[in-house]
Amino acid sequence: MKNNREQILKVKAGRLSLEQRVRRSLDIIEQFKDYNAFLQVYPDQALEQARHIDRKIAAGETLGSLAGFILAVKDNIHIAGKETTCASNILKGFRSPFSATAVEKLQQADAVIIGKTNLDEFAMGSSNESSAFGVVKNPSDPERVPGGSSGGSAVAVAIRAVDAALGSDTGGSVRQPAAFTGVVGFKPSYGRVSRYGLVAYSSSLDQIGTLADSVENAARVIQTISGHDPHDSTSANVDVPDLSSFLDRDVRGMKIGLPKEYFAQGLDAGIRQAILNVADRLRENGAVVEEMNLPYTEYAIATYYIIATAEASSNLARYDGVRYGLRNGENEDLREMFEQTRSSGFGEEVKRRIMLGTYVLSAGYYEAYYNKALKVRRLIKEAFDQAFASYDVLLTPTTPTTAFKIGEKIDDPLTMYLGDVYTVSANLAGICSLALPAGKHDNGLPVGLQLMAGSFREDALVRVGDFIEKNCIS
Ligand code: GLN
Repeated sequence: MKNNREQILKVKAGRLSLEQRVRRSLDIIEQFKDYNAFLQVYPDQALEQARHIDRKIAAGETLGSLAGFILAVKDNIHIAGKETTCASNILKGFRSPFSATAVEKLQQADAVIIGKTNLDEFAMGSSNESSAFGVVKNPSDPERVPGGSSGGSAVAVAIRAVDAALGSDTGGSVRQPAAFTGVVGFKPSYGRVSRYGLVAYSSSLDQIGTLADSVENAARVIQTISGHDPHDSTSANVDVPDLSSFLDRDVRGMKIGLPKEYFAQGLDAGIRQAILNVADRLRENGAVVEEMNLPYTEYAIATYYIIATAEASSNLARYDGVRYGLRNGENEDLREMFEQTRSSGFGEEVKRRIMLGTYVLSAGYYEAYYNKALKVRRLIKEAFDQAFASYDVLLTPTTPTTAFKIGEKIDDPLTMYLGDVYTVSANLAGICSLALPAGKHDNGLPVGLQLMAGSFREDALVRVGDFIEKNCIS
């Protein structure tokens, strides 16, 4: 499907009203209602904001960097006064008292926010099946999952209801659904974008990112929401480069690594071929593309699922029936109230992770699991540091398979976790990563490719990603 770039430019030139664009978006949302991508839609507010931008354009006022854009926000990110559910029953009725910094930046940049999108409960999952508000359908085949956890955001973009949507990526939640639905997913480096107002899942891994209809639009959104924020002590005080100046460049002389471990057993043959075809195109255009090794890749999944669940078990302790949302049961005492609220409020996957996380942190197992995982994480990070001493970017598949059927993996969590094999390492290492479409598989479903670059080298991702999107995909 074509991207919406032209329409955004038309709006800015005053040749198409943004109000009309928003009305069209609302129609699309209505038309695809049963895909379940949106949890909330704000028609009145979006139309009002659109008219406001239209007036600014007519008056020739200075416009924000996202004037003309229509965006959605994953429902684990706060917008002041709106509900934040995290697709969980435990947050029933909870309204955000403040907006996330990323949301404020979007608003200041003149973006229209049209609604909030569905996700796996608390962003834990790879299929959107763990949402308390129903699975999201994949527009390429409604019997299949859209991926997760930012499945609603991916589908909102895939059906072109929005130009881009915020997502969060702890172990692939922006990139994997992008791959399954044929859109772009951009996970910035750890520290690049403030997480103030993102509901915490695993704080040493979480990043806000974006899904978008093109590398260009993704780059513009990331640029807008990047930068140091005193409200988030992990946000980095580093310069934000002008990412749009890396669009429409060539790749001559760039060094691109193909880590062998990402093309090993378990990778679908059609996906492998699609990525290797892109590698050939890059070579023809003057890039140096070669195979290389990324040691410790095989330990990434185990390391990730220990660290992520450990941190989740601690972060989710705050949902106790006292401070947020739901309180359940006729309780005799406080302990019973906690128990009843948490038992009825959390879904199965979230409970599984809290139990796993509590286990790996418990006195007898802390050294063997949690501490060990931290050490392996360090080795994984060092392997990337070494790789980026020789290569500008790494090119890999985003997922080992195309989108699977709804229900296919839900009873087999381990198989579900293994599907994250190519995405979790970027989070463990804190580096940036961009997923983009690599064409269609013989089975008719979208194939995704992934680029990884060193910390704060988003510029290299935009340069190579935009080039691939425009020149290497047939
Ligand atoms: N699928 C991974 C998980 O379930 C990643 C989730 C995410 O990035 N939020 O933890």
